[in-house]
Amino acid sequence: MKIFGQSKINKNGQLELGGCNVQDLVKNYGTPLYVVDEGLVRVTCQLFKQNLVSENVETEVIYASKAFLTLAMCKVIAEEGLGIDVVSGGELYTALKANFPASRIYFHGNNKSKEEIMMAVNSGIGRIVVDNCAEIDLIESVCASLNKKIHVLFRVNPGIEAHTHEYIRTTNNDSKFGESIFNTNIYEILNKLINSKYLIFKGLHSHIGSQIFEENSFLEQIRVMFVFIKTIKEQCNFTVDELNLGGGFGIYYADGDTPINLSLFLKELLNEVKNKANEFELKIPKIMIEPGRSIIANAGTTLYTVGSTKKTVSGKNYCFVDGSMADNIRTALYQAQYEAAVANRMNDILDATYTIAGKCCESGDVIVRNIKLAHPKTGDIIAVASTGAYNYSMSSNYNRLTRPAVVFVKDGTSRVVVKRETLDDLLRNDLM
Ligand code: PLP
Repeated sequence: MKIFGQSKINKNGQLELGGCNVQDLVKNYGTPLYVVDEGLVRVTCQLFKQNLVSENVETEVIYASKAFLTLAMCKVIAEEGLGIDVVSGGELYTALKANFPASRIYFHGNNKSKEEIMMAVNSGIGRIVVDNCAEIDLIESVCASLNKKIHVLFRVNPGIEAHTHEYIRTTNNDSKFGESIFNTNIYEILNKLINSKYLIFKGLHSHIGSQIFEENSFLEQIRVMFVFIKTIKEQCNFTVDELNLGGGFGIYYADGDTPINLSLFLKELLNEVKNKANEFELKIPKIMIEPGRSIIANAGTTLYTVGSTKKTVSGKNYCFVDGSMADNIRTALYQAQYEAAVANRMNDILDATYTIAGKCCESGDVIVRNIKLAHPKTGDIIAVASTGAYNYSMSSNYNRLTRPAVVFVKDGTSRVVVKRETLDDLLRNDLM
């Protein structure tokens, strides 16, 4: 199992996360347990900030909070100087309650409610990212009722669908997000924004996919967006001041994953921006990116306790743990791959291949498929690596399982940032 940040294997062959021994973490906080290496989150934020820099280009790194959001995470992101992107009233509320600077909040979503828009406008957030034509009228009417203006970006689909190692160009984008740049009425929509009384139109947003390893996908996105920006200038006589290129930088989960070298690539990305602005004789817009997974995924590890193991008639080995698809839906949802290990015996020989399964009443309740483990036994601790992104944030109470606690670790100390749910929490909103 590849380990990250401050993690290491100590002289007794036990895994340490952020300087904390997993056995101590389990003893103090129980399992299942989400552990986040706070130091690694901070280092990664700085990696983005320090490398998305180029002379004469204004830039901003915005954390896509859907990947993992808690009050403590907001505080870390605010302290590291990043912006934050939210996609619901709940995410917005969390950021505001954490005293995240409102001017650095970006509000996304394809179906924002009137109440959510009101909350955003009243809180004076930095930008609403308008997702579609219909939303323009809704935001306009909310702003009119409040007599307040709001800065907006407009989300478009550049017709580039990025996949892990490739991209395709398409003019038939069926995504539920954004308006296609190939829509016949796209300039009409943009003119509506440009002429809006309450919406101050600043620029464009596009996001081409997730878990992307292919640098060319992003470079192609820039090229297509600049052709579009040039056409907007010609058709609407409007200068795009801001260009948000979204997130999607791939991370290492398991063998075969080859993340982009960000410290080299972010500079290349800005070079391409400058080249295109130069080529088309355009003002260089402010460039924003919105990484989510790449900031938090490798910093997260989930710890479980082994209940038992089982060998099926056909010879398949199961390792049953006290978590489930309720704390990690990604494997069941999209066959995500993870690496895992017996964390209290990291140096033992990996004796056989196991499927790590949870305790939900669902055959698909698998956390890690086909992984070599060192003969797991009842009471052993299983660590599943790189679970920081889209695990806690997608967790559920399926089968009335309580959500695990979240613990931040750093320099040998640990602190709970989300308490473990109790059985009473499950009944909190039930009425007889
Ligand atoms: N921005 C937008 C608009 C997104 O939809 C997403 C993910 O779905 C992200 C940013 C973050 O993507 P990732 O976590 O892959 O970096």
